[in-house]
Parts: sequence; C-alpha cells; structure tokens
Amino acid sequence: MAEQHDHTHDHDHAHDHDHDHEAAASAPVKVVGEEPDLSKGTARPITVVGNPVLHRECRTVTAFDADLSALIDDMFVSMYAAAGVGLAANQIGVDAKVFVYDCPDDDNVRHIGHIVNPVLEDLPVERRTLDDGNEGCLSVPTAYAELARPDFAAVTGQDKDGNPVRVEGTGFFARCLQHETDHLNGYLYIDRLSKRDRKDALRQMAEGTASYATVAND
Ligand SMILES: [Zn+2]
Repeated sequence: MAEQHDHTHDHDHAHDHDHDHEAAASAPVKVVGEEPDLSKGTARPITVVGNPVLHRECRTVTAFDADLSALIDDMFVSMYAAAGVGLAANQIGVDAKVFVYDCPDDDNVRHIGHIVNPVLEDLPVERRTLDDGNEGCLSVPTAYAELARPDFAAVTGQDKDGNPVRVEGTGFFARCLQHETDHLNGYLYIDRLSKRDRKDALRQMAEGTASYATVAND
C-alpha cells in the first residue's frame, strides 16, 4: 500500500483540523515489531495493474525455508525503495501468499512485520465501523481514491518459520492489513471502487509517473 495521501493540498480549509495529527505523525511513540536488516535484501521492480500475477489468487506457502526468508528480505527492501507502507509478494512478481508492512495506525503506533498465508477474520457486526479514507497502491502508481473500509482488522497466518501468528490493527493499519490480504487473493483496491472512481484512479495513474522502478506490462 502507498503512504497516506496528504489531503491538505486539495482542501486548505481542512488544514487546521489536521494540524495536531500531522504534528504527532512526525514522532512515533511506539513500535510493534522489529526493523528488518535491509543489507540482506535487494530491491525489485513493482508490478502494476494489468500484470496477470496481480489478478489471480496467489499460491499458499508450504516451504518455510531460506528461500522464503530471502523473499521477505527482498520485499522489505522493495517496499522501502518505493516508499510503501505494505507490499504483497505478487507486487514483485512472486506467486506466494506473503506480505510485509511498516505502517502507522491512527494512534501513531508503527507496526512492522510480515505474515505468510494470511486470512482475514470475519468481524462481529458490532466491530464493523467503516472508516472513510484515502487509499493508494504501489501497483497503481500516483493514484489515490476514497474507499470506506472497516476500521479494525485481524489477520491470522504464519511467520517465516511456520509458527501461527495473528496480527490486528486499527485505522490506517487496519486498512493496510485488508489491502495486502486482498492483493494475495487477486484483488486491487480499485476493484472495490465504483466504475467511475476506478476509471478516475486509472486516469491519475496514466497521467502520473511512478517514483520507483516498475515492471512494464506487455
Ligand atoms: Zn497495493
């Protein structure tokens, strides 16, 4: 997933309202997870909408070996190279259910980690509060759109050694967990937009230039 889009450029009147949030955003109070060792990985170019690997369900990971570890190292480096807050394996062309993240939530907690074979938990009705928010994706470069999503998400899966893990989050991080799990099931966030908003996102992408290396579509 792409970094949060700054609304204030488009809506100056919203600036005062956002001020406290921006000030807080510069000083994370807490980190959950460990920063990866970036010397171990290599940045790979990002696949973009239209590449078949993004539009089908990825394969379940069954081998928790050195190759998986190396893939996760490359994914972290690739995510940071593209200034993303989340990255799914198919975004670097790998057909495997894994994603990585380094993403703040709305309480300014920075969450860092990876998850293999993630499954989104069904939310009880009382937790289904929708958050309006701007969403972007490294595979739809330079485009953003408003998309309502539940403000809480929990994902179960495994770590790189095959141990069971559960990750939950709120706000922007909840959005990230849903966005990345969608990727591994073959869906982009633009697939959840109205026809008109999807078209607008694709227009933004066509008019923009990615600030990172991408894989050209045939
Ligand atoms: Zn994405």
